[in-house]
Amino acid sequence: MTIAKLTETDVRGKRVFIRADLNVPQDEAGNITEDTRIRASLPSIRYCLENGASAVMVTSHLGRPAEGTVRAEDTLMPVAVRLGQLLERPVRLVPDWVDGGFEAHEGEVLLLENCRCNVGEKKDDEALARKMAALCDIYVNDAFGTAHRAEATTHAMARFAPVACAGVLMGAEIDALTRATSNPARPLVAIVGGAKVSSKLTILRTLAEKVDQLIVGGGIANTFLLASGKRIGQSLAETDLVKEAQAIIDMMKERGAEVPLPVDVVVADELSALARANRISIDEVGAHDRILDVGPKTAARLADIIAHAGTIVWNGPVGVFEYDQFAGGTKMLASAIAHSSAFCIAGGGDTLAAIAKFDIANDVGYISTGGGAFLEFLEGKTLPAIAALER
Ligand code: ADP
Ligand code: MG
Repeated sequence: MTIAKLTETDVRGKRVFIRADLNVPQDEAGNITEDTRIRASLPSIRYCLENGASAVMVTSHLGRPAEGTVRAEDTLMPVAVRLGQLLERPVRLVPDWVDGGFEAHEGEVLLLENCRCNVGEKKDDEALARKMAALCDIYVNDAFGTAHRAEATTHAMARFAPVACAGVLMGAEIDALTRATSNPARPLVAIVGGAKVSSKLTILRTLAEKVDQLIVGGGIANTFLLASGKRIGQSLAETDLVKEAQAIIDMMKERGAEVPLPVDVVVADELSALARANRISIDEVGAHDRILDVGPKTAARLADIIAHAGTIVWNGPVGVFEYDQFAGGTKMLASAIAHSSAFCIAGGGDTLAAIAKFDIANDVGYISTGGGAFLEFLEGKTLPAIAALER
């Protein structure tokens, strides 16, 4: 994969347009509740400022606006304020920017209003892309989180801008994901946890063809337990996907690889913060039990697999880690990853929350900012935004 990179591009005196992913969560009053994505976008902006770009224009989508209007909840204003604080310089929000007509002062960062409010953005419209490309000398895509979508600012624009390159974050994401997927250090261990098999079926199938061990956790493990003939009581599972789970187990066996299943679990009779947790062997699960975490024996076994891994790919918790009594398995897993010398790449909204909860961010090789894009890259799909940069 050869892609031009911002850090190998001369930006002096140039107008740079950065498509970032600043789609941060907000509370009802519009306050930003979590700013990781803004922080992750700083290196590209700083690179342009430090290397004498004549204008630094940044845009992003925020939420799911309707095209053609900017409602109160759509504006990037709160993002402009936070970005200004982090950069320690003014960031001016520019409304109605598609047709140009605005100037940047020396060293000023312009935040161009929510790009998904522009008519034609979602449809990857060529006329819109041409107009936006005319605003800049260099187009930078740094929005890995939306790399799996072909939209005017993530895809068509790359074709019409004089220069198109990957930002610092996009470059780091591509490098880390490529390292974990092409020619990874073995054994390659994947952990796929979370709630439902259906949301991760493609990734499970793809990984089953590549990895040495496929650790399944959470509701996903329950469906695999059913496939292996275990009773799971009232646990979350998808009975219509038991055959799929069986096929994955068989495919792994044929390759001499394995899907290690829980030998003990933590159960409760309800899923709530006050639920009383019981640790039992997998063969003791009763008709009214819900499996909400893996037990200590299973966690120790998983930790051992992780300790001997060469590369680890992690998406999804192995239990309802939001409640402390069901967090033990995911905590043990997090700790094993933190102590492992393997290169670990992790991604997914709730996975990132688990990484934060157990405070291991500094000990994970690479934490992806992409949820959907992260999974699609691992599935071996060509991401439209990356393909556009390759041309
Ligand atoms: P990610 O966002 O990292 O991709 P998912 O969204 O697929 O992860 O899954 C995370 C959710 O799965 C968490 O909210 C967690 O509580 C839930 N979960 C984990 N284990 C179980 C289980 N045994 N039963 C029900 N839900 C579970
Ligand atoms: Mg999630």
